[in-house]
Amino acid sequence: PMHYADRVTRVEPSATLAISALASELEAEGADVVDLSVGEPDFPTPENVVEAGQDAMDAGHTGYTTSNGIPELREAIADKLQADGLNYGPENVIVTPGAKQSLYEITQTLIDGADGQGPSARGTSSRAGDEVVLLDPAWVSYEAMVKLAGGSLVRVDLSPYDFRLEPALPDLENVISDSTELLIVNSPSNPTGAVYTDAALEGVRDLAVEHDVTVVADEIYGEITYDTDPTSLGSLDGMAERTVTVNGFSKAYSMTGWRLGYFAGPEELIDQAGKLHSHSVSCATNFVQHAGVEALEHTETAVDEMVDAFEQRRDLLLDLFADAGVDVPTPDGAFYMMLPVESPDTEWCEGALEDAHVATVPGSAFGAPGYARLSYAASEERLREGVERLVDAGYL
Ligand code: PLP
Repeated sequence: PMHYADRVTRVEPSATLAISALASELEAEGADVVDLSVGEPDFPTPENVVEAGQDAMDAGHTGYTTSNGIPELREAIADKLQADGLNYGPENVIVTPGAKQSLYEITQTLIDGADGQGPSARGTSSRAGDEVVLLDPAWVSYEAMVKLAGGSLVRVDLSPYDFRLEPALPDLENVISDSTELLIVNSPSNPTGAVYTDAALEGVRDLAVEHDVTVVADEIYGEITYDTDPTSLGSLDGMAERTVTVNGFSKAYSMTGWRLGYFAGPEELIDQAGKLHSHSVSCATNFVQHAGVEALEHTETAVDEMVDAFEQRRDLLLDLFADAGVDVPTPDGAFYMMLPVESPDTEWCEGALEDAHVATVPGSAFGAPGYARLSYAASEERLREGVERLVDAGYL
C-alpha cells in the first residue's frame, strides 16, 4: 500500500461534500432540488469578457506568460488596488489560477510547521507550528490550508455577536499575542455576508501592529456589498507592510470556471511567494488573463446589475424568513446568509434536503454549529420555492 504524507492525512475532506453528494443522488432519482448550497453567482460571465477571452485565444495568446502574470493585467489590478487606497504597482502583484491558489501560496509562504521544518512531524516536534488566527465562522479552506502548511489554529467565534467583528475585538485581543504569525480576515465574509466596519478593521490594525502580526485580507466579495463601501484593510495606516490582499474574478464577474485571482503585498513577499508560484503553476492561463483585463476595465454596468439582483434577493429572503418568524442576521455583502436552525445543524441540513429537497450547507462546516448557510445566488422564484418547502416540511 502507498504511504500518505502526514500533511494530507491530517486534512479533513470537505464537510459540504456529503450534502452535494446527497443532492446529486436525489437529482439522479428525478427530484427537483432547490440548491441553495452553491458558492457561485448564477449569472453568465459578461459577454464582453467572454469575447475578450475568445479574441485573445484567436490572437494566439496561448503560450506561457510571465510567471507573475501579464503586465497589462497586473497594471489593471494595481490601478484597482490604488483606487482602494493601496499604494501598489504591478511589481506587488501575483496573478493566480483563482484566489484559492493565491491563499494556498500565501499560507505556504508565510507559515512554518513545527521547528521551522515545514509540515510538523507529529509527536517529534518540540514546538507547534506557526500560530494562525481565524475568525469563525470562516470559509472552509482556510483551516485546510493552514493545516497543510503545518500551522496551528486559534479561532475566535463571532457567532455570539451576530457575526460582527467589532464587539468581538476583546475576544480577539485575548488570543492575539507576540507568537501569532498570521490573522486571516475575510470581509465581506463567506459564510455570513458580514462586512466589517471601519472601527472593527482599525481594531484589527491596532492589534496587528502591536503584536507584529501579518494579516491576510481576503476581499474576494469586496465588489458585492449593499449600502456599504467597505474599506480595504491594507489601506489603513500601518497596514501596508503587513497586509496581503487577496481578490479574484470568480464572484464579482461571475467567472468561477475561468480560474483567475490574485494577491498583492510588499515586494519581498512577492519575491518569496513568486518562487512557489513559478515552481508550481508557472502562470495563470494566458487568454484568461486577457479576459481579466476586460473584466476589470469594462464591466461596471454588469457588476452593478448583479449586485442589485443579489440585494433584492437578500431582501426577499429576509422578508420570507421574517414572515416565517425566523430572525436572521442581515448580511451586508456577498450572497450568503446564516439561518439559525435546530441542532445538530448537520442533521437539519440532511433532513431539509431529504424531506424538502432544499440543499444548504451546515454551519458547523464553517465553525458555526446551529446554523445553515444559504446562498442566494438563485432566482427569486427558486428562493420563494425553497422557503415555502422548508416551511411546509416543518423546518422553519
Ligand atoms: N475566498 C473565499 C472567502 C471564497 O468564498 C472563495 C470561493 O468560494 C475563494 C476565496 C476562492 O475563489 P476562487 O478560487 O474561485 O477565486
